[in-house]
Amino acid sequence: MGRVFGPFLFINHKSALYVCFFVAKYFMSEILYTLIATHITIICVTVFLHRGQAHKGIEFHPALSHFMRFWLWLTTGMITKEWVAIHRKHHRFCETDNDPHSPKTYGLTTVLFKGAFLYHAASKDKDMVNSYGVGTPNDWMERNVYTTHSRLGIGILLMLNVILFGWVGLLIWGIQMIWIPFWAAGVVNGIGHYWGYRNGNTKDNSRNISPWGIIIGGEELHNNHHLDPANIKLSRKKFEFDIGYFYCRLFAKMHLLKIR
Ligand SMILES: [Zn+2]
Ligand SMILES: [Zn+2]
Repeated sequence: MGRVFGPFLFINHKSALYVCFFVAKYFMSEILYTLIATHITIICVTVFLHRGQAHKGIEFHPALSHFMRFWLWLTTGMITKEWVAIHRKHHRFCETDNDPHSPKTYGLTTVLFKGAFLYHAASKDKDMVNSYGVGTPNDWMERNVYTTHSRLGIGILLMLNVILFGWVGLLIWGIQMIWIPFWAAGVVNGIGHYWGYRNGNTKDNSRNISPWGIIIGGEELHNNHHLDPANIKLSRKKFEFDIGYFYCRLFAKMHLLKIR
Protein backbone atom coordinates (compact mmCIF):
# COMPACT_ATOMS: atom_id res chain seq x y z
CA MET A 1 0.00 0.00 0.00
CA GLY A 2 1.03 3.56 -0.41
CA ARG A 3 2.54 3.02 -3.86
CA VAL A 4 1.77 5.46 -6.61
CA PHE A 5 1.09 4.17 -10.13
CA GLY A 6 3.10 4.79 -13.27
CA PRO A 7 6.70 5.95 -13.36
CA PHE A 8 6.59 7.06 -9.72
CA LEU A 9 6.53 3.54 -8.25
CA PHE A 10 9.35 4.42 -5.88
CA ILE A 11 7.23 7.06 -4.14
CA ASN A 12 5.24 6.00 -1.10
CA HIS A 13 3.31 8.07 1.41
CA LYS A 14 6.31 8.35 3.73
CA SER A 15 8.63 9.80 1.09
CA ALA A 16 5.85 12.07 -0.21
CA LEU A 17 5.47 13.45 3.32
CA TYR A 18 9.25 13.87 3.55
CA VAL A 19 9.23 15.87 0.29
CA CYS A 20 6.42 18.08 1.68
CA PHE A 21 8.35 18.72 4.93
CA PHE A 22 11.52 19.44 2.93
CA VAL A 23 9.74 21.94 0.70
CA ALA A 24 7.97 23.57 3.69
CA LYS A 25 11.22 23.80 5.70
CA TYR A 26 13.50 25.20 3.01
CA PHE A 27 11.00 27.26 1.00
CA MET A 28 8.78 28.70 3.75
CA SER A 29 9.33 32.34 2.77
CA GLU A 30 8.69 31.54 -0.92
CA ILE A 31 5.46 29.68 -0.04
CA LEU A 32 4.25 32.49 2.24
CA TYR A 33 5.06 35.14 -0.38
CA THR A 34 3.17 33.20 -3.09
CA LEU A 35 0.10 32.64 -0.89
CA ILE A 36 -0.05 36.24 0.35
CA ALA A 37 0.61 37.81 -3.08
CA THR A 38 -1.99 35.65 -4.86
CA HIS A 39 -4.50 36.31 -2.08
CA ILE A 40 -4.06 40.08 -2.46
CA THR A 41 -4.57 39.69 -6.22
CA ILE A 42 -7.79 37.71 -5.73
CA ILE A 43 -9.08 40.34 -3.26
CA CYS A 44 -8.29 43.12 -5.76
CA VAL A 45 -10.19 41.24 -8.49
CA THR A 46 -13.30 40.57 -6.41
CA VAL A 47 -13.43 43.85 -4.44
CA PHE A 48 -12.12 46.36 -6.99
CA LEU A 49 -12.85 44.92 -10.44
CA HIS A 50 -16.00 42.95 -9.73
CA ARG A 51 -17.93 44.50 -6.85
CA GLY A 52 -16.55 48.02 -7.21
CA GLN A 53 -16.07 48.66 -10.93
CA ALA A 54 -18.36 46.22 -12.76
CA HIS A 55 -21.35 46.50 -10.38
CA LYS A 56 -20.61 49.93 -8.87
CA GLY A 57 -21.40 48.73 -5.36
CA ILE A 58 -18.42 50.44 -3.72
CA GLU A 59 -17.03 53.96 -3.53
CA PHE A 60 -13.25 53.79 -3.02
CA HIS A 61 -10.89 56.10 -1.19
CA PRO A 62 -8.25 57.06 -3.81
CA ALA A 63 -5.48 55.44 -1.71
CA LEU A 64 -7.16 52.02 -1.91
CA SER A 65 -8.27 52.22 -5.54
CA HIS A 66 -4.78 53.38 -6.62
CA PHE A 67 -3.16 50.55 -4.69
CA MET A 68 -5.53 47.94 -6.17
CA ARG A 69 -5.12 49.23 -9.72
CA PHE A 70 -1.34 49.20 -9.32
CA TRP A 71 -1.36 45.69 -7.82
CA LEU A 72 -3.57 44.30 -10.61
CA TRP A 73 -1.28 45.88 -13.22
CA LEU A 74 1.80 44.42 -11.47
CA THR A 75 0.46 40.90 -10.95
CA THR A 76 -2.07 40.25 -13.75
CA GLY A 77 -1.67 42.68 -16.68
CA MET A 78 -5.46 42.87 -16.95
CA ILE A 79 -7.05 46.13 -18.12
CA THR A 80 -9.90 47.36 -15.89
CA LYS A 81 -12.13 48.53 -18.75
CA GLU A 82 -11.82 45.20 -20.60
CA TRP A 83 -12.47 43.11 -17.49
CA VAL A 84 -15.52 45.18 -16.55
CA ALA A 85 -16.94 45.15 -20.09
CA ILE A 86 -16.58 41.38 -20.51
CA HIS A 87 -18.14 40.75 -17.10
CA ARG A 88 -21.09 43.08 -17.71
CA LYS A 89 -21.68 41.39 -21.07
CA HIS A 90 -21.65 38.03 -19.27
CA HIS A 91 -24.50 39.23 -17.01
CA ARG A 92 -26.39 40.76 -19.95
CA PHE A 93 -26.26 37.67 -22.20
CA CYS A 94 -25.76 34.89 -19.65
CA GLU A 95 -25.76 31.35 -21.13
CA THR A 96 -26.51 32.59 -24.66
CA ASP A 97 -24.16 32.57 -27.67
CA ASN A 98 -23.29 36.19 -26.83
CA ASP A 99 -22.05 35.25 -23.35
CA PRO A 100 -18.22 35.64 -23.56
CA HIS A 101 -17.55 32.52 -21.45
CA SER A 102 -20.56 30.26 -20.98
CA PRO A 103 -19.80 26.54 -20.49
CA LYS A 104 -23.16 25.93 -22.21
CA THR A 105 -21.75 27.37 -25.44
CA TYR A 106 -18.04 26.56 -25.20
CA GLY A 107 -18.08 23.44 -23.00
CA LEU A 108 -16.84 23.15 -19.42
CA THR A 109 -13.31 21.99 -20.28
CA THR A 110 -12.71 24.95 -22.60
CA VAL A 111 -13.93 27.51 -20.03
CA LEU A 112 -12.07 25.80 -17.16
CA PHE A 113 -8.68 25.45 -18.82
CA LYS A 114 -8.83 28.03 -21.62
CA GLY A 115 -10.96 30.70 -19.94
CA ALA A 116 -8.17 33.24 -20.31
CA PHE A 117 -8.19 32.72 -24.10
CA LEU A 118 -11.96 33.36 -24.21
CA TYR A 119 -11.37 36.51 -22.16
CA HIS A 120 -8.59 37.59 -24.55
CA ALA A 121 -10.77 36.94 -27.63
CA ALA A 122 -13.66 38.95 -26.13
CA SER A 123 -11.33 41.86 -25.29
CA LYS A 124 -10.52 42.27 -29.02
CA ASP A 125 -14.03 43.64 -29.65
CA LYS A 126 -13.21 47.29 -28.97
CA ASP A 127 -16.77 48.53 -29.66
CA MET A 128 -18.07 46.12 -27.03
CA VAL A 129 -15.33 47.15 -24.57
CA ASN A 130 -16.15 50.85 -25.09
CA SER A 131 -19.90 50.43 -24.67
CA TYR A 132 -19.89 47.95 -21.76
CA GLY A 133 -16.83 49.41 -20.04
CA VAL A 134 -18.22 52.89 -19.37
CA GLY A 135 -17.45 54.51 -16.03
CA THR A 136 -14.08 52.83 -15.49
CA PRO A 137 -10.93 54.84 -14.60
CA ASN A 138 -9.59 57.02 -17.40
CA ASP A 139 -6.98 59.14 -15.66
CA TRP A 140 -3.34 59.80 -16.65
CA MET A 141 -2.07 56.54 -15.08
CA GLU A 142 -4.72 54.51 -16.88
CA ARG A 143 -4.09 56.06 -20.30
CA ASN A 144 -0.30 56.27 -20.12
CA VAL A 145 0.68 53.27 -18.00
CA TYR A 146 -1.94 50.67 -17.07
CA THR A 147 -3.62 50.41 -20.49
CA THR A 148 -0.79 51.46 -22.82
CA HIS A 149 1.83 49.34 -21.04
CA SER A 150 -0.41 46.62 -19.65
CA ARG A 151 2.34 43.94 -19.86
CA LEU A 152 5.07 46.04 -18.26
CA GLY A 153 3.84 45.30 -14.73
CA ILE A 154 4.14 41.53 -15.00
CA GLY A 155 7.61 41.99 -16.54
CA ILE A 156 8.67 44.04 -13.50
CA LEU A 157 7.12 41.39 -11.23
CA LEU A 158 9.23 38.71 -12.92
CA MET A 159 12.39 40.70 -12.24
CA LEU A 160 11.38 41.38 -8.62
CA ASN A 161 10.68 37.68 -8.03
CA VAL A 162 14.08 36.68 -9.44
CA ILE A 163 15.86 39.37 -7.37
CA LEU A 164 14.04 38.22 -4.20
CA PHE A 165 14.10 34.44 -4.67
CA GLY A 166 16.58 33.61 -7.42
CA TRP A 167 15.46 31.07 -9.99
CA VAL A 168 12.62 29.87 -7.71
CA GLY A 169 11.18 33.32 -8.44
CA LEU A 170 10.49 32.13 -11.99
CA LEU A 171 8.32 29.30 -10.68
CA ILE A 172 6.51 31.70 -8.32
CA TRP A 173 5.89 34.06 -11.25
CA GLY A 174 4.45 31.18 -13.28
CA ILE A 175 2.06 30.37 -10.41
CA GLN A 176 1.04 34.03 -10.19
CA MET A 177 0.41 34.16 -13.95
CA ILE A 178 -1.95 31.18 -13.93
CA TRP A 179 -3.67 32.03 -10.61
CA ILE A 180 -6.38 34.36 -11.99
CA PRO A 181 -6.79 32.62 -15.38
CA PHE A 182 -7.40 29.33 -13.54
CA TRP A 183 -9.41 30.36 -10.45
CA ALA A 184 -11.40 33.30 -11.85
CA ALA A 185 -11.62 32.78 -15.61
CA GLY A 186 -11.65 28.99 -15.26
CA VAL A 187 -13.23 27.87 -12.00
CA VAL A 188 -15.74 30.69 -11.39
CA ASN A 189 -16.82 31.12 -15.02
CA GLY A 190 -16.75 27.36 -15.72
CA ILE A 191 -17.61 25.39 -12.56
CA GLY A 192 -19.66 28.36 -11.26
CA HIS A 193 -22.05 27.81 -14.16
CA TYR A 194 -21.96 24.03 -14.12
CA TRP A 195 -21.61 22.32 -10.74
CA GLY A 196 -22.65 23.15 -7.17
CA TYR A 197 -25.74 24.10 -5.20
CA ARG A 198 -28.29 26.84 -5.77
CA ASN A 199 -29.97 29.07 -3.22
CA GLY A 200 -32.47 30.39 -5.73
CA ASN A 201 -33.61 30.04 -9.31
CA THR A 202 -32.08 32.30 -11.90
CA LYS A 203 -32.54 32.17 -15.68
CA ASP A 204 -28.86 31.25 -15.96
CA ASN A 205 -27.16 28.08 -14.80
CA SER A 206 -25.13 29.70 -11.98
CA ARG A 207 -24.02 27.61 -9.00
CA ASN A 208 -22.42 28.11 -5.60
CA ILE A 209 -19.23 26.06 -5.82
CA SER A 210 -18.55 26.09 -2.08
CA PRO A 211 -20.34 27.70 0.92
CA TRP A 212 -16.98 29.10 2.12
CA GLY A 213 -15.62 31.68 -0.27
CA ILE A 214 -11.96 32.06 0.69
CA ILE A 215 -9.62 30.85 -2.09
CA ILE A 216 -11.45 32.88 -4.79
CA GLY A 217 -12.34 35.71 -2.41
CA GLY A 218 -16.04 34.83 -2.07
CA GLU A 219 -16.61 34.42 -5.82
CA GLU A 220 -17.29 30.76 -5.09
CA LEU A 221 -20.85 31.90 -4.20
CA HIS A 222 -21.68 32.55 -7.84
CA ASN A 223 -25.38 31.62 -7.77
CA ASN A 224 -25.88 34.07 -4.90
CA HIS A 225 -24.20 36.72 -7.04
CA HIS A 226 -26.46 36.12 -10.05
CA LEU A 227 -29.50 36.23 -7.77
CA ASP A 228 -28.63 39.79 -6.73
CA PRO A 229 -25.73 41.21 -8.80
CA ALA A 230 -25.89 44.67 -7.21
CA ASN A 231 -25.41 43.26 -3.70
CA ILE A 232 -21.72 43.31 -2.76
CA LYS A 233 -22.32 40.68 -0.07
CA LEU A 234 -22.11 37.32 -1.81
CA SER A 235 -23.09 35.11 1.14
CA ARG A 236 -26.82 34.66 1.87
CA LYS A 237 -27.14 31.79 4.35
CA LYS A 238 -25.80 31.58 7.89
CA PHE A 239 -23.43 28.76 6.99
CA GLU A 240 -21.91 30.68 4.06
CA PHE A 241 -18.81 32.88 4.31
CA ASP A 242 -17.63 35.53 1.86
CA ILE A 243 -14.10 36.72 2.66
CA GLY A 244 -14.37 39.48 0.03
CA TYR A 245 -17.23 41.03 2.00
CA PHE A 246 -15.20 40.64 5.21
CA TYR A 247 -12.47 42.79 3.58
CA CYS A 248 -15.08 45.30 2.38
CA ARG A 249 -16.32 45.73 5.96
CA LEU A 250 -12.74 45.97 7.23
CA PHE A 251 -11.79 48.62 4.63
CA ALA A 252 -15.04 50.49 5.39
CA LYS A 253 -14.09 50.62 9.09
CA MET A 254 -10.69 51.98 8.05
CA HIS A 255 -12.51 54.65 5.93
CA LEU A 256 -10.90 53.26 2.76
CA LEU A 257 -14.22 52.58 1.04
CA LYS A 258 -17.97 53.17 1.32
CA ILE A 259 -20.50 50.47 0.56
CA ARG A 260 -23.22 51.95 -1.66
ZN1 LIG B 1 -21.75 34.14 -13.97
ZN1 LIG C 1 -20.96 40.11 -11.55
